[in-house]
Amino acid sequence: MLRTLFVFSEMVPYSKTGGLADVGGALPLALRQLGAEVRVLVPYYGCPATGDMRWCCAVNVPYTGETAELWSPVGEAQILFLRYPAYYERDGGPYQDTQGEDWPDNDRRFALLNRVAVEIAQGRVSGLNWRPDIVHANDWQTGLIPYLLDLEARIGAARPAVLFTIHNLAYQGRFAPGAMAPLHLPAADFHWLGTELYGAFSFMKAGLAYSDQITTVSPTYAEEIQSSAFGMGLDGLLQTRSEHLSGILNGIDAIHWNPGADPYLPAHYSLQDRLGKAQCKAQLQSSLGLRPDPHVFLLGMISRLVEQKGTDMVLDILPDLLRRGMQVVVLGSGDKSFERQLLEMAAAHPTQMVARITFDEGLSHRIEAGADAFLMPSRFEPCGLNQMYSLRYGTLPIVHRTGGLADTVTDADDFRHPLQRNGFVFDRPHSDALHDAVLRAEALFRQPALWSHLQDQAMAGDYSWQHSARAYLQLYHEVLARRA
Ligand code: ADP
Repeated sequence: MLRTLFVFSEMVPYSKTGGLADVGGALPLALRQLGAEVRVLVPYYGCPATGDMRWCCAVNVPYTGETAELWSPVGEAQILFLRYPAYYERDGGPYQDTQGEDWPDNDRRFALLNRVAVEIAQGRVSGLNWRPDIVHANDWQTGLIPYLLDLEARIGAARPAVLFTIHNLAYQGRFAPGAMAPLHLPAADFHWLGTELYGAFSFMKAGLAYSDQITTVSPTYAEEIQSSAFGMGLDGLLQTRSEHLSGILNGIDAIHWNPGADPYLPAHYSLQDRLGKAQCKAQLQSSLGLRPDPHVFLLGMISRLVEQKGTDMVLDILPDLLRRGMQVVVLGSGDKSFERQLLEMAAAHPTQMVARITFDEGLSHRIEAGADAFLMPSRFEPCGLNQMYSLRYGTLPIVHRTGGLADTVTDADDFRHPLQRNGFVFDRPHSDALHDAVLRAEALFRQPALWSHLQDQAMAGDYSWQHSARAYLQLYHEVLARRA
């Protein structure tokens, strides 16, 4: 049985600042269901919802003299909480204090996570009696693991294979070059093919340089990040590693996002029977003060309101969409100027447009169910979740051809893949192109048989974690075979 050690800096239900935590909660579980033996190492930040925990063992960290502890939730011995209260059990978030400032000792905090991972990886934690075949590291917070394992190999120690997944290339774990010495890392490795990134010491860079395999969260994004437009300064290195760089799409939580049983919805529906979707639309309109009308084309958008997500493009075209009689519901928060403009536009068109500047889980489900189409014109999108929720809910996504959006949405006019058509895709990240796509979508909405056919194909797709887990499992075997 293949043994995998996952290392995450956050994991639902114990800690979450973003999608990384969802992966932490879902992927190890899906792999276990496929028969892999999986353990997950994650810092314990003092989450009160954890319930009872059981002490597992102490870990003496080489060089630094730190002694950390491993604990597990009762009944879940496969989860290893790393406890070191002085580093992790503080008021504030995993990476930042209550003022939103990065913790000044993030290098030491996450170096400890990485050192402990290596102790486990090398089978040196007595009390665990377990050693993985593969270590799966995630994002910059775990980027030193491949590097530390390389240092082990340099002194002749056998080491497990190591796979590093990029969830967000924008966060690179950069520190002053002088931070390497206190972490007992050899200064000689501070160079272009090592830990150096534009004069800084970068955890992310170390992860990319020293891992056996790099993955990211969609095949298209894996290609894009090798270009200067998307590579965030790491495209050169990623090009040199392209042979060992691939993309695997994230899955979605198919239990939480299921139109057939979603507790947030006023009515349920399925691929076979979409009557409930019309009720969800009517309820969304009436609850938000929009004119109740099943024939009006209703667009939804749920997003961080930032330039990456194309909020500016949506603002550009909204006046024309409203003039044409469409309805628009936007849920999100972010850039203050975008928030203000959306609120002003909604105030000027109260029966046609709603802008909710908040985080509202229930409303996000009701928008996914009640809208006809979903706007997601992101300039870049490593994977994206909302387009997959939309597909599952029969709400056809309108997306820019980038990253995970390109990999999950097939345009209604795509003659090469007629059986996969499930939405609307435009090529240039420009408001004119988005505008054309929305008008094409509305024209098809006026042809119910064609629209319904696209909804069928959208809802029939497999967006599950099982699919992703199988792909990771296959990749683990490939990496292990390559090293054999
Ligand atoms: P990103 O992680 O870049 O923000 P994703 O599409 O991958 O984008 O994931 C965003 C997640 O956050 C989705 O689950 C989405 O539904 C949710 N979300 C974003 N903004 C809001 C909001 N204002 N209210 C409720 N859910 C939101």
